[in-house]
Amino acid sequence: MRINEIPTPSYVIDEGKLEDNLKILKDVETRTGAKILLAQKCFSTFSEYPLIAKYISGTTASGIYEARLGYEKMGKPYNKETHVFAPAFKDEDIETLSVICDHIVFNSVSQLKKHAKRVRKIAEENNHEISIGLRVNPEKSTQKDHAIYDPCAEGSRMGVRECDLDDDVISMIDGIHFHTLCEQNSDDLETTLVSVEEKFGKYLHNLKWLNMGGGHHITRDDYDVERLIRLINHIKTTYDVQVYLEPGEAVALNAGYNVTTVLDKVKNGIEILILDTSAACHMPDVIEMPYRPPLKDSGEAYEKKYTYRLAGNTCLAGDVIGDYSFDQEINVGDRLIFEDMAIYSMVKNNTFNGIPLPGIVAMNRDGECRTIKIFGYEDFEMRLS
Ligand SMILES: *Cc1c(COP(=O)(O)O)cnc(C)c1O
Repeated sequence: MRINEIPTPSYVIDEGKLEDNLKILKDVETRTGAKILLAQKCFSTFSEYPLIAKYISGTTASGIYEARLGYEKMGKPYNKETHVFAPAFKDEDIETLSVICDHIVFNSVSQLKKHAKRVRKIAEENNHEISIGLRVNPEKSTQKDHAIYDPCAEGSRMGVRECDLDDDVISMIDGIHFHTLCEQNSDDLETTLVSVEEKFGKYLHNLKWLNMGGGHHITRDDYDVERLIRLINHIKTTYDVQVYLEPGEAVALNAGYNVTTVLDKVKNGIEILILDTSAACHMPDVIEMPYRPPLKDSGEAYEKKYTYRLAGNTCLAGDVIGDYSFDQEINVGDRLIFEDMAIYSMVKNNTFNGIPLPGIVAMNRDGECRTIKIFGYEDFEMRLS
């Protein structure tokens, strides 16, 4: 089956591209000794975990379910690390997390004090080694474009500030974690690390690891990998710590598509194509972030001869993906291919309006496609009652 034969809408995972990304990440691991983890909140397509496990060191999770998925699909079968961080953990999840996770990172001193002893006790009873960490807030904003993704913003609940730390707290942990970047290059990491060293360097000498979070756009064409490698090696030699990175986007950047069919064409000033996919349901970041996804064989509005507004098949007036232009006229029944649709898509989709969930298809380097999963009415009904 080729990509033009698959049912629509479908997400297609480009395994060649995914593997190219993984090779870049593996190279960073090899040249620095850093360990790289997949942030599953971005991409949880576990049918690709066997491929991912060939190259990087494990997964990280945002809570109990992702931790379980990471453990069951990668940690356990491929002997990889399973990490978890959450703004707060529930008492009833600690039992499981203490047994399946290699690292657990708390967001506050109160959470650390509440859970740390129990975590260590449960792990010990199960002959399991677990490392405990604390997320810190370097109080250094490096992004203007995406304020909702800035954990250093004023009033942020993410991470402990320097003023709330002391040696007693540090004595309870093995490492520290920060996550402040979003789609950023290594120059912003460098700026952040100056602040991290200034505020937390005094503690780092006595700790085992530093987790630099995600948001490193390592596999983007213009990313300065050499600087990243220099920065990691500097931290490693200065403090003698194991460095972790946990990118989501960089793992599956440009490694997927959303293939859709044009259902209708209407006109209201501009010509509008109604698709069998939806921004609101299948690419929510288009509205939330917001951004304009790349579309194969298209240009900016009015750049090429035929311009259309691409819109979704829901009741939401604002379910608009963007305005695009084409060399040829687009007709009902034609297929369009949205690009960079592996990340923050499948993990965020929903069945608002009863819109079907797109199928999930994997495409190998030769362009041969195989169906991973098809969803139906039952998947819509199952989540309601
Ligand atoms: C979102 C997140 C990541 C992954 O971020 P990307 O931007 O997808 O690289 C990693 N760690 C934490 C704590 C996160 O919240």
